[in-house]
Amino acid sequence: MTSDPTKPEFLTRRNFGALLAATATTAAAQQTTQPAPPAPGNFRRPLAPDTPAFEGKIESAGRHVSLKAEPFPMSQVRLLPGSIFTKARDWNRSYMERLAADRLLYTFRANAGLPVGAAKPLGGWEQPENGQRSSELRGHFGGHFLSASALAAANGDKDAAAKGDYLVAELAKCQQKLGGQYLSAFPATWFDRLEKGVRVWAPFYTIHKIMAGMFDMHRLGGNRQALQVLEGIASWVDEWSAPKSEEHMQQILSVEFGGIAETLYHLSAATNNERWVRVGDRFQKKSFLNPLVARRDELRGLHVNTHIPQTIAAARRYEISGDTRFHDVADYFFTEVTAARSYVTGGTSNAEAWLAPPRRLAEELKLSVNTAECCCAYNMLKLARQIYSWNPDPRIFDYYERVLLNHRIGTIRPEVGCTQYYLSLAPGAWKTFGTEDQTFWCCTGSGIEEYAKLNDSIYWRDREGLFVNLFVASELNWPEREFKLRQDTSYPNSPATSLTVVAARPAAMTIRLRIPGWLGSAPAVRLNGKVLEASAAPGSYLTLNRVWKAGDKIELDLPMRLYTEGLPDDSRLRAFLYGPLVLAGDLGGAGLTLSHIIGPNLRVGAPNTEQYGSPLGPVNTTGPVPDLQIPAFRAGNQDLDAWIKPADKPLGFRTTGQRQDVTLVPLNSLFDRRYSVYWEVS
Ligand SMILES: [Zn+2]
Repeated sequence: MTSDPTKPEFLTRRNFGALLAATATTAAAQQTTQPAPPAPGNFRRPLAPDTPAFEGKIESAGRHVSLKAEPFPMSQVRLLPGSIFTKARDWNRSYMERLAADRLLYTFRANAGLPVGAAKPLGGWEQPENGQRSSELRGHFGGHFLSASALAAANGDKDAAAKGDYLVAELAKCQQKLGGQYLSAFPATWFDRLEKGVRVWAPFYTIHKIMAGMFDMHRLGGNRQALQVLEGIASWVDEWSAPKSEEHMQQILSVEFGGIAETLYHLSAATNNERWVRVGDRFQKKSFLNPLVARRDELRGLHVNTHIPQTIAAARRYEISGDTRFHDVADYFFTEVTAARSYVTGGTSNAEAWLAPPRRLAEELKLSVNTAECCCAYNMLKLARQIYSWNPDPRIFDYYERVLLNHRIGTIRPEVGCTQYYLSLAPGAWKTFGTEDQTFWCCTGSGIEEYAKLNDSIYWRDREGLFVNLFVASELNWPEREFKLRQDTSYPNSPATSLTVVAARPAAMTIRLRIPGWLGSAPAVRLNGKVLEASAAPGSYLTLNRVWKAGDKIELDLPMRLYTEGLPDDSRLRAFLYGPLVLAGDLGGAGLTLSHIIGPNLRVGAPNTEQYGSPLGPVNTTGPVPDLQIPAFRAGNQDLDAWIKPADKPLGFRTTGQRQDVTLVPLNSLFDRRYSVYWEVS
C-alpha cells in the first residue's frame, strides 16, 4: 500500500548516505570462499518470442488451464505443535481475537448511517472522520480481516469462523442501507474524485480488499451470503466502470487499485459468469503489461505493491482463459523480480517503489532505509504459488522458503502478534511493529492473512503423487488416496527432516522431496533406516516411487553451511547465510526504546521528531537513536569458516580477528536490537 500521498515518500536518502559514510571503507577485493549456491530466483526460463502487445479491449474467449500441480487444501494439512510456525500462527490468532468485531465494523456502520453502539473506532489507517484526523483507506483492514478469518476457518478455527460470519452479516446490512450494491467504509463520492482526477488515496485498493475478503469467506468459509455481498459490490464496480472509455479507465488506473481484477476473475470462475471477466479486464493497466509482454524491465519508478497484485490478476486471467500473453506477463515479472530486484531475504521494494534499474541493488539500498515492504513479500509468495502450479520447478520453492523463513517468520512480534511494515536491510536498522489498534498499515492486513495460513503449500499434489516442498512439522491427510503422512522436524533449527507414512492403501505413489538449492551437494536420504544409493542434486526433486505402507519412514539430511551472497552491482557488500537462513549481525540495543520500536516506521540515524508513515500526525518517539559505527570486515583469502566461528547460541556465529567482531544470528530471531545484514567485506 502506498504511503499517504500527502507525505514525502523518499525522505531517507540523506540518512542512509551518512550511515554508509560512517562505515569504514576498505579496498575492494573479491571474497575468497567456497562457492555460494545459486541464489533463489535464478531460474530464468526461455520465454516464447513475439508475444503480441495488449491493445484496446481484451477479448475474453478461452478455456481454463489445467494446472500441473496444486497445493493440498489447508483443511488437510495440520501444523504440529512447538514450531516457529505454530507460534507465529498462535500470536496472530490472539491478536485477531483481541480486535472486537464491532470495532472493525465501526467505519462501515458510520458510513451507512447505522448505529455504531458503544464501539471505539480503530485508529491509524482505519481512522474515521474525527476533526482533522481521518484516513482515506479506512475499511481496508476489515477486508483483510475477513480473508484472515476465512483462512482460520478453513483450518478449523470455529471462533474465527463465527466472527467472520458475523462480520459478513453486519456488512450485508451496511450494503443494504447503502442501496444493495456499494459497500465501503467511506462514501461513494470519493470515486467521483477518482473519475475527475482529483487526488484521492486509493479507493479501489480498499474496495478490492473487501471484495477479496468476501470471496474468501465464501470460498474458504462456506458463507453463501458473502458471495451475494460480493456480487453486489461487483455489480456496482461494473456500473461505475462500464460507461467510461478505455482511455479514461487507463488514466484512472494510474491511482493504486491493487488486485481487484483477480477477485473479479475468481468470481467469474466461481459463478460461471463471463460478466465478471469483462469487468475485471477494465482493470488491466496496459502501460504496465506491455513492457512485460516484450520482456522489458521498465519497473523502475513503479510502486511495487500496486503492481504485484496486478501481476497476480494477470496470472489468474491466464488460468481462466489460456491467454498466453497473461502467462508471459506473470512469468517474466516473477523471474525478473526474483532474479534482479530482490534482496538476500527474498524481499523486494524500497520506500514502496523500485527506485533503481534492475540488478542495481547496492544503488537501491542507498536510496532509502525502508526496504522490503511486507505486503510485497506476501504477494510475491502468492504469485510464486501460481507460477509453480503451472510448472512445478523446485527452485521456486527455494525462493519461497527464503522469503518465508527470513521475511515472514521474524516480522511478527513474539507473543504480541503485531507485525512489521518494512523489513529494513539498512545498516544499523531495527525492526518496528504496528501498535495494537492505532496503526493498521497495509502490511498489518496482509500480515494477519499470512500467519493464518502457514500450513499452506507445504505439500502439493499432481496425478502421480505428492511434492514435499517445505520442511515444517505437520501432518498431511489425503483421504482420496487413503494416505496420511507426518513430517517431524524442528527445521531450520535442526538440519534434517523425517517423514513417516501413517496410512497408505497398497498402490504405487510418487513422493518428490525438494532438495534445496542452497545445499552444498546431494544429501543423504534414508528409507526405513537404510541409506538410499540415489540422491538428487541441489535445486531438484528426489523422486521416490513405491507402494508405500504405514510405518515407512524417509529421513532427509539438510546439512547447513555458511556462505555469502553479494549484491550484483557491488560485490563488496555481502550478506551471510547459514543454510536457508539470512544472518544478521547483532549491533546491540543501546538507545532503543519501545517508542522507537512500536508504532513508527523506521528512521535510521535521524531525529525521530518528524512525522513519518502515519497520516494522523506525529508519532511519539523519544528522539534519535544513537549514531552507530557499522563494522566492516577484512577476510583476506580466508574461507568463511576460518574467520566466522560457531558461537554458543543456536544457529549463532561470531566473527574473529576483526577490528570489531560481531555476533551473527538468524535475522528472523532478532528483536529489539539493531542489526546489519549487508556488510563491506574486503
Ligand atoms: Zn504493506
